[in-house]
Amino acid sequence: MTSFDYDLFVIGAGSGGVRAARMSATYGAKVAVAEEYRFGGTCVIRGCVPKKLFVYAGRFKGEFEDAAGFGWQLNGVSFDWQTLLANKDREIDRLEGLYRKTLKNAGAVSFDDRAELLDAHTVRLVKADKTITARTILIATGGHPFVPDIPGSENAITSSEAFHLKALPKRIAIVGAGYIAVEFASIFNGLGVEVVQIYRGPQIMRGFDDDMRDGLSEEMRKRGVDIRVDTDVTEITPEGGAYAVKLSTGDVLETDLVMFATGRAPNTGTLGLEGAGVELGPKGHVVVDEYSKTSVDNIYAVGDVTDRVALTPVAIREGAAFAETVFNDNPVSIDYSGIPTAVFSEPEIGTVGLTEAEAREKYPKLDVYKSQFRPMKHTLSGRDEKMIMKLLVDGDSGRVVGCHVLGADAGEIAQTVAIAMHMGATKADFDATMALHPSAAEELVTMREKWQGKSS
Ligand code: FAD
Ligand code: NDP
Repeated sequence: MTSFDYDLFVIGAGSGGVRAARMSATYGAKVAVAEEYRFGGTCVIRGCVPKKLFVYAGRFKGEFEDAAGFGWQLNGVSFDWQTLLANKDREIDRLEGLYRKTLKNAGAVSFDDRAELLDAHTVRLVKADKTITARTILIATGGHPFVPDIPGSENAITSSEAFHLKALPKRIAIVGAGYIAVEFASIFNGLGVEVVQIYRGPQIMRGFDDDMRDGLSEEMRKRGVDIRVDTDVTEITPEGGAYAVKLSTGDVLETDLVMFATGRAPNTGTLGLEGAGVELGPKGHVVVDEYSKTSVDNIYAVGDVTDRVALTPVAIREGAAFAETVFNDNPVSIDYSGIPTAVFSEPEIGTVGLTEAEAREKYPKLDVYKSQFRPMKHTLSGRDEKMIMKLLVDGDSGRVVGCHVLGADAGEIAQTVAIAMHMGATKADFDATMALHPSAAEELVTMREKWQGKSS
């Protein structure tokens, strides 16, 4: 029998790689992990975690504005970007330390190095210039920001740099209208930056329920984000410390910083995958089966690099399922339906299940329940903001097949509703559940009238 240095070599210590390495080691495998940047990966180092900390920072502005109606007079309020950066960096350092410790405690060996495949069982550590063999290899290399090839786009930043800006700009132009674009538009707007958001399509957040898209765009505009739809950026030119951004509408925008949030591409380039026989898809992603196995028997891949659902909990589940399947003799595949997700814009979107458009395709008899209301807080704050809640129900089975919330704590609400939907809850179950008063979420168990109007 061939002997290898390790049972498992994991390339990439992000959400998926760390979970897979830790669990596989716990099941008795001899495991090594290579990370070329920082342990914890995108989510911990330059994604979910620092992003959510920035979201909290940005939300204080609205809270301060809302406080006056409750009797608070806040004089001399000011914001210091350097304090936020330093505190955020300290927390990220702490978390990176925990990730390293978790791997060490599980018995996995960590390399601070880039790893590339030489063949199906051999990796090369680039800095150390050393080869290592492994029976099984897991590709968990995640992705990186994709920036379209537009003249001058090399002058722009992406979310990776947004976490380390030396100073907060006075004005920013954000290109794109997916998760990262709307979250950062809200963050910068909350921190007092003038934000123009530029999107090529007719409405932001393509793929989300239309009521959420329309509602979010309306509320973001009310908060001061200048959203320009049906608009492309055609050229970016530096001009004395600022930028002139040419738009397809003929307008030229003056701004201090341009940020592209135009999607992410898988980290597969120069990894040696094709040489090892691993099939790549049209987007450069690793093609895998339901057990995350690639076209090569002993090579697996999990997380963003596989272009399935690019969310941290999904990468973690895939990493865990891989460990169960390969090192615990318990084949596990993932159910990709009913994944809850939140967009941490201001206001927030929380969603689980199908959009109305998707549900109409799938269910011939669809009942829509929708409520739009002014949250109680804003009766005193005076803020002109509405909350939207929406339930989509299969008229034949009565099952709730979609839930969409726009407003404060929408993500927290969606996580809880996801449990009920996962258990197959019907609208009758929602109706039979006692309301919690006064709350916004009680709308979800008190909506009785089917929505007769035309949804957006
Ligand atoms: P990653 O976490 O990207 O880890 C891959 C690791 O591999 C990286 O550390 C990389 O340095 C390393 N690597 C790459 N190539 C090599 C190599 N050759 N050798 C060694 N190491 C290598 N998801 C959510 O669920 N909620 C959120 O709120 C959220 N917010 C986000 C905000 C931003 C700004 C971004 C960019 C993403 C966000 N995401 C969020 C998505 C989430 O971060 C990813 O889905 C998740 O990190 C994917 O995990 P992964 O293990 O596949 O890859
Ligand atoms: P998204 O795919 O969400 O959005 C990309 C945006 O860029 C879309 O508006 C897209 O437009 C636009 N776009 C793509 N290509 C071009 C182009 N060539 N020119 C102009 N516009 C373009 O990607 P993000 O980068 O925002 O985020 C990546 C992923 O990370 C998300 O999909 C999500 O899975 C994850 N994430 C999750 C978060 C969360 O859970 N809260 C937060 C942040 C990221 P169009 O729609 O027309 O294609």
